[in-house]
Amino acid sequence: MILNNENYYSPEANQEYMSVSQYKAFMNCEAAAMASISGRYERPTTRALLVGSFVDRYFEGTLDEFLKENPTLYTRKHELRAEFKRANQIIEAVKTDPKFMDAMSGEKQRIFTFDLFGVKWKAKLDSYNPGKAITDLKVVARMDKLPMWRYDIQGAVYQKGVEIVTGEKLPFYLAVVTKERVMDRDIWQIPQSTLDMALRQVEENIGRYADIKAGLLEPVHCGRCDYCKSIKQAAVRNYNELLEA
Ligand SMILES: [Zn+2]
Repeated sequence: MILNNENYYSPEANQEYMSVSQYKAFMNCEAAAMASISGRYERPTTRALLVGSFVDRYFEGTLDEFLKENPTLYTRKHELRAEFKRANQIIEAVKTDPKFMDAMSGEKQRIFTFDLFGVKWKAKLDSYNPGKAITDLKVVARMDKLPMWRYDIQGAVYQKGVEIVTGEKLPFYLAVVTKERVMDRDIWQIPQSTLDMALRQVEENIGRYADIKAGLLEPVHCGRCDYCKSIKQAAVRNYNELLEA
């Protein structure tokens, strides 16, 4: 299928294409990833996630539609909830920051599809600036937690995907703003050596995930995530397991 803004996140698109978030879901728990792809399990949308979307949609120029689509952004008195007032302040702050606006000055939410390591991928870029850079916008709790989210994988796949489609290898940046009381902001370049390492890791793992997706291998249950807990049955276990963990 040809992807556009209407069908990009559809179950059909998720079935046909691998994405970085799908890949990361497989890394966390193969069973949960499969349950989500097949529509048996939906990860709850938290307000924390919506704050990120709120800022994304501002930069995309579609904040008005977003506000209409999500009545939960408002209180009963029809005022924006505190988190989203905060999101507005974040937008105001970065709008006046020249480095930040320069980093986000490319084409917004451009969709790419490409074959990588024998798998069909889809990617939606926050800011695609041909000849210059790929930038992804992140609204995070704290700056020092960035490596935990493995944005190096996203950078590696986006960079490779753009190179496959256009022939141009672009540097990858994260434009990051924090939700702290006094917000922090910086543009982080992920070094090429880090991207190369992340891409090799994707190459090693993607075959297994693609086979699971195609029904050729059984997914492993991690036993700890919300999905695994939601389908489990109680077992009688040795208390000392807890001391070893
Ligand atoms: Zn699990």
